[in-house]
Amino acid sequence: METSAERDGDGYRLSGTKTWITNAPIADVALVWAKDRSTEGDPVRGFLVETDREGVETPAIEGKLSMRVSATGEVSLDDAFVPESAVLPDVAGMKGPLSCLTQARFGIVWGAVGAARDCFEVAREYAGEREQFGQPVAGFQLQQEKLAEMATKVTTGRLLADRLATLKERGELRPQQVSMGKRHNVRMAREVARTAREMLGGNGITTDYSPMRHLANIETVYTYEGTHDIHTLILGEDLTGIAAFE
Ligand SMILES: Cc1cc2nc3c(=O)[nH]c(=O)nc-3n(C[C@H](O)[C@H](O)[C@H](O)COP(=O)(O)OP(=O)(O)OC[C@H]3O[C@@H](n4cnc5c(N)ncnc54)[C@H](O)[C@@H]3O)c2cc1C
Repeated sequence: METSAERDGDGYRLSGTKTWITNAPIADVALVWAKDRSTEGDPVRGFLVETDREGVETPAIEGKLSMRVSATGEVSLDDAFVPESAVLPDVAGMKGPLSCLTQARFGIVWGAVGAARDCFEVAREYAGEREQFGQPVAGFQLQQEKLAEMATKVTTGRLLADRLATLKERGELRPQQVSMGKRHNVRMAREVARTAREMLGGNGITTDYSPMRHLANIETVYTYEGTHDIHTLILGEDLTGIAAFE
């Protein structure tokens, strides 16, 4: 983390840039995590920063082929002043940002199941209606094998999400378990979306059907909230006690 906060009178001055921020171009307020250079050990603190403050820029990223309805941009802070009241009061250190990420990733575990399920349902319905060689394509064994695989994957992802929810309700959920869920379910949804798209033939590449849209959006989900690779390394560290990030 390179964004820093320096004490200045009755507030702080923030400097640093973070790109790929969802809603940055339209947000009125940004929650910024920065290293507090004025305190021993440079603890990470959270700051609520109005985006119309002097020194704050939020340019948009153009040309996305995934998550097209969601605005994405950069948050750039150049000596931007915020008052003491902008500091989140009860959290210091990485616990703040990491606990946010664990919550968001837990949501993704479920969102991936929803996307995959929609793809499966659309493909099943389509295969039941589309006729080739005198019968619905759902009657061919090759298509049934795809449906069987998809149904099994969606069910497996759903069960994993359910299990994580049970642990969460008991207060026993570990971030590494959320990494396993995010990693598994997003890859699962990516595979199911691709198979569903394939089962729709040419129609599958149009906006008339949802699988291609899910497929494009899942590419982002595969990368954000911790890339698939990084979650692999989180699990690797948890399983071996050896960090392989660098
Ligand atoms: C549409 C969209 C919205 C986003 N919204 C937000 C947001 O709101 N807030 C936010 O903070 N971020 C957001 N992100 C950013 C996202 O979290 C990052 O893109 C992601 O963390 C990957 O970082 P990067 O793009 O710099 O890839 P890089 O770090 O450059 O990675 C490139 C490739 O190298 C791999 N890699 C990197 N390091 C290692 C390593 N140590 N070992 C093995 N492989 C490695 C990665 O897995 C990846 O495949 C968003 C991204 C997108 C696309």
